[in-house]
Amino acid sequence: MLKDNIISLRERIDRAASRAGRKPGEIRLVCVTKEAEIKRVEEAISFGCGDIGENRIREAIEKYNTIGTKAIWHLIGHLQRNKVRDALKVFSLIHSVDSEPLAREIDKEALKTGKVQDILVEVDISGEAGKYGIAPQEAAGFVEKLSSYPNIHIAGLMGIAPMVDVPEKARPYFASLKRIFDDLASRNIKNTEMKYLSMGMSQDFEVAIEEGSNMVRIGSAIFGR
Ligand SMILES: *Cc1c(COP(=O)(O)O)cnc(C)c1O
Repeated sequence: MLKDNIISLRERIDRAASRAGRKPGEIRLVCVTKEAEIKRVEEAISFGCGDIGENRIREAIEKYNTIGTKAIWHLIGHLQRNKVRDALKVFSLIHSVDSEPLAREIDKEALKTGKVQDILVEVDISGEAGKYGIAPQEAAGFVEKLSSYPNIHIAGLMGIAPMVDVPEKARPYFASLKRIFDDLASRNIKNTEMKYLSMGMSQDFEVAIEEGSNMVRIGSAIFGR
């Protein structure tokens, strides 16, 4: 089951990539395991899920203590400042940097461990109440500010589209994030590389890829709900 889910997901990713005129290998799949038990996560890894996404630090540490570096760990959920030290032990890429105090804390802790932490800036593309992320019009200024922190490497952007009844309705939100991504790429900001555009989940990843995503975060289409 799990294996079939992963295989058919890869096929859908590949088809979306080719519709968008891109190579399948350009799209990185982050398998979101927040609702999966360790055994299932290990199975998924054995079927080729090399990138694991978690949204809570405590659960991630538990899984990491068993699985370790057999996978690359992605933090996709909101990060509180008092959890930064723990987060840095586990995660290769933090997708959810959305404030300067948080960035400062990451920089400080990264310095202590001699690490340069890869991060993505989360942009609030949906504009819905209660959502995290930097407002789209403030994203460029925020990235400029973050670029002065030497122990952080900005590797791209992350966004979450609003919940919609049909995936097509998410398209304009993804397109708007791609425009910000392209604009930032053209500015050649120090410490900054627009390498990953993390957008697209189980419901909407095909549209996200068509609009320029190269990193999708997928949970329920692999593990079920
Ligand atoms: C849970 C989650 C996902 C995966 O969602 P699915 O709909 O299960 O694919 C992706 N991104 C974030 C930020 C999440 O919290």
